[in-house]
Amino acid sequence: MQILGIESSCDETGVGVYDTERGLLAHRVHSQIAMHAEYGGVVPELASRDHVRRIVPLVRETLAAAGCSAGALDGVGYTAGPGLAGALLVGAAFAEAFAFGLGIPALPIHHLEGHLLSPLLSSDPPTFPFVALLVSGGHTQLMKVTGVGAYELLGETVDDAAGEAFDKTAKLIGLDYPGGPALARLASEGVAGRFKLPRPMLHSGDLQFSFSGLKTAVLTATKAPSWSHDQRADLAAEFQEAVTEVLVAKALAALKETGLRTLVVAGGVGANRRLRERLDETAARRRLRVHYPELAFCSDNGAMIALAAGLRFAGGATGQTDGRFAVRPRWPLGELQPPR
Ligand code: ATP
Ligand code: MG
Ligand code: FE
Repeated sequence: MQILGIESSCDETGVGVYDTERGLLAHRVHSQIAMHAEYGGVVPELASRDHVRRIVPLVRETLAAAGCSAGALDGVGYTAGPGLAGALLVGAAFAEAFAFGLGIPALPIHHLEGHLLSPLLSSDPPTFPFVALLVSGGHTQLMKVTGVGAYELLGETVDDAAGEAFDKTAKLIGLDYPGGPALARLASEGVAGRFKLPRPMLHSGDLQFSFSGLKTAVLTATKAPSWSHDQRADLAAEFQEAVTEVLVAKALAALKETGLRTLVVAGGVGANRRLRERLDETAARRRLRVHYPELAFCSDNGAMIALAAGLRFAGGATGQTDGRFAVRPRWPLGELQPPR
């Protein structure tokens, strides 16, 4: 089966073509980062309008790159939530209309399911069951994953997501939007430990996270009268160390609690080099397996949505053919069911 995947939950228009026998055939992403940068964050109305402009050319380009005609498609999957309502509506309206016109089924996909299945696109994919550490711009969750659609929430952040904490802290240190990757770059020039930041909830005894206090601690530190480049780099390094230390400790605790030995990391913060380094060290010591998505599939993309839809169709999901749809800007992942 050849499945087209459409992603438009936030500020990336993503399209992918996934073949359930041959794997990913092609994918394309158009990021709106440059457009939103001058506002210091994503402007929802601008995001929706840009998805409208980009989606058709991007689908054409991706189908051509996949060597696949629209008539050869067997289904369309699209992100139906969670995300920005207006942005989601563009992808949903396009996908449903396209599928309806072709007489093939459309399948609404949960954005986070796409993220957490994305490591399956790599050359050395994980096998079920595993613990997933989902660390993105809007979410920080640990999940027990026993199969497609079988997700049990083990713990999550009580306030900011890890990516959000990276972005907000970057802003405090004076870095441009989007700050996460910029903060990580600055951190590589600094030394952790020169500033002292807390490790929030490290010893809370559960699998919950909290990152908003860290941002406040950084704010206090940045009140110092003058700031050299080296000091900012040291603060960035300490911040990154604090976040990654907590993420690694809680991921290990989740493996221990579930008795599983495979960890899957997904979401934009999964691109962080220091996080990968620390996880790899720990995994080698304890003989655990850690899987990451390829860098291109850490942040939002259409490939992961095509993959999730492909696995669901292959698992027996029938999708819908009446062209009707609704998006879910808020949608708990735990509500999902396996395909039947
Ligand atoms: P969600 O998927 O929860 O709706 P999102 O789609 O905005 O949110 P992603 O695209 O998965 O999130 O990830 C974007 C986040 O990842 C941003 O907060 C960004 O700063 C962060 N990020 C990206 N690269 C890095 C990095 N190297 N180090 C730390 N954070 C990073
Ligand atoms: Mg984005
Ligand atoms: Fe995302």
